[in-house]
Amino acid sequence: MPELPEVQGLVDFLRSRVLDLPVARVDLGSFSVLKTYEPPVDSLGGLTVTDVTRHGKWIDIDVDGIHLVFHLSRAGWLRWSEALPQTVVRPGKSPIALRMRFADDSGFDLTEAGTQKRLAVHVVRDPRDVPGIASLGPDPLDISRADFADLLHGKRTASGRRTADDIGSGEATRNESSRQIKGLLRDQSVIAGVGNAYSDEVLHAAKLSPYAVAGKLDEEAVDRLYDALRDVLTGAIAAASGKPAKDLKDAKRAGMRVHGRAGETCPVCGDVVREVSFADRSMQYCATCQTGGKPLADRRMSRLLK
Ligand SMILES: [Zn+2]
Repeated sequence: MPELPEVQGLVDFLRSRVLDLPVARVDLGSFSVLKTYEPPVDSLGGLTVTDVTRHGKWIDIDVDGIHLVFHLSRAGWLRWSEALPQTVVRPGKSPIALRMRFADDSGFDLTEAGTQKRLAVHVVRDPRDVPGIASLGPDPLDISRADFADLLHGKRTASGRRTADDIGSGEATRNESSRQIKGLLRDQSVIAGVGNAYSDEVLHAAKLSPYAVAGKLDEEAVDRLYDALRDVLTGAIAAASGKPAKDLKDAKRAGMRVHGRAGETCPVCGDVVREVSFADRSMQYCATCQTGGKPLADRRMSRLLK
């Protein structure tokens, strides 16, 4: 899944290509990908792109006041083409969920692999009309050290930014300070843009256990985490920016020190990178760097060993 740095890379790339370009048309290869009906997707045709920005992991193409906003989710991707084929995109016939064509015939396809369709496209007049954007916490590159500490210690929640739907869902009332740091960093309503991969990297750089309790971190640990969050993301953005869309996945993989590298050697201390598996994902960490040398229990492993 693309996270903040790759999404920023896509935004920078799109901006360099489509700013000031008129939209020729937008075709849907999947009706379910479009989550809104007003304004209609056809209304984008003929209008000119005035901005391309990011909200957390959401990409926002501002087409003269009408925003095409999308989230690539787990298996979605953007495939850019300098000259799109003239073939018509038909629903259900290809992995192409949406094709956006510009006046010079350049454009992109949003594709989604796999059977779980979670790619989401919204056409709205205000990006905050998208519930997933309205509920976002602050951007990690904008948040101050003091506000970050308050988030971890539960003195500040993103509740003011939550939508009515979220309030009372349990998520909103949960005390952030008692939560494990790995889950907290991945929670888009707490901090926007960090997912499973970069939370592994940030915790490794900060030398913190993924199970450390957010509210119990001392000042020095908060400093390490705050610096690691910004350093890891800034470094990854620098690596992603200027790269064509097709190279971003490889750039992400290449920059990872522990994530996706179970069994390999920790580049900091030389210990082996370990893994904890869950039903739908896994996390990687270094015991020497992060957990005082003690491997974390892996439920899947212990089940298999029974
Ligand atoms: Zn290590």
